Amino acid sequence: VGLFRTKFFLLDTEYSPTEEDQTEIYIELAKRTGSQPAIIRTLDSGGDKLSTEPLIEPDPNPFLGWRGIRVSLDRPDFFKEQLRAILRASAHGKIGMMFPFISGISETRRCQTLVKECMGELEAEGCKFDANLEIGAMIEIPSAVLVADEIAQEVDFFSIGTNDLIQYTVAVDRINNRVAKLYRSTHPAVIRMIKMTTDAASRAGIWTGICGEMAADLSLIPLLVGLGIDELSVGPHEIAPVRKALLSLDFGECKTLAEEALAMPTSAEIYHLSHEAARAAYPDLIDDNG
Ligand code: PEP
Ligand code: MG
Repeated sequence: VGLFRTKFFLLDTEYSPTEEDQTEIYIELAKRTGSQPAIIRTLDSGGDKLSTEPLIEPDPNPFLGWRGIRVSLDRPDFFKEQLRAILRASAHGKIGMMFPFISGISETRRCQTLVKECMGELEAEGCKFDANLEIGAMIEIPSAVLVADEIAQEVDFFSIGTNDLIQYTVAVDRINNRVAKLYRSTHPAVIRMIKMTTDAASRAGIWTGICGEMAADLSLIPLLVGLGIDELSVGPHEIAPVRKALLSLDFGECKTLAEEALAMPTSAEIYHLSHEAARAAYPDLIDDNG
């Protein structure tokens, strides 16, 4: 499980889950995924999502406002309950965690300090946890891409949230139909951002996944593999075709394709290049109109 969202039960208005409730849910996840990793994303509220508490004055621009990790870091007690619950569950399976909406190094360090604090508390209480659990940063804001080398020193992996990374890179609201045609996953700037992220990750010896919708676009898998993405996190129904597509590709050819794509000036050309490679490698999975 590459992205286990927690906002649905954390923000349920009728019931506010305690640390114990959360621990139970995460242990259940750990037991079900067994030896396979499951990455829990800490609370990502705001933007198009619900707010953790009614705002006295609504955010004038919610997508640039109080969302993601900003909310958690402003509510450390609430955040620590979630961190402690995740840590406690890590004793029961291969649980990892990642922080959403990281814009730079200070937020990453503040998160890590709170994790260490929680580990210290749990140790003192005699509670078991996996001290080596994987901790990642979501890369979904352009500023995080630009300082990815520094962030990479603080975490075990990157998970690129392309849904947001595209929206913030090309300044296109992801839920506004009027500008939907400008929301291009293969915009050259987005492709270069992904490459900058994987390059920074490999310099630091950590891995990079994608957990946005782009990971499930079968036409783009040759490009993403060539850009150095190590893991694709997709919805349950998309796992089989994505796995089949990956098994049909040659890594060397994907790398050459990605280099070509990085030199292309338009999103249409980049999309076409990857789409054609996908069609050649796994024609049965590719819709010719797509
Ligand atoms: C993303 O931004 O790509 C992502 C996975 O998170 P969400 O769509 O929940 O913001
Ligand atoms: Mg996001």
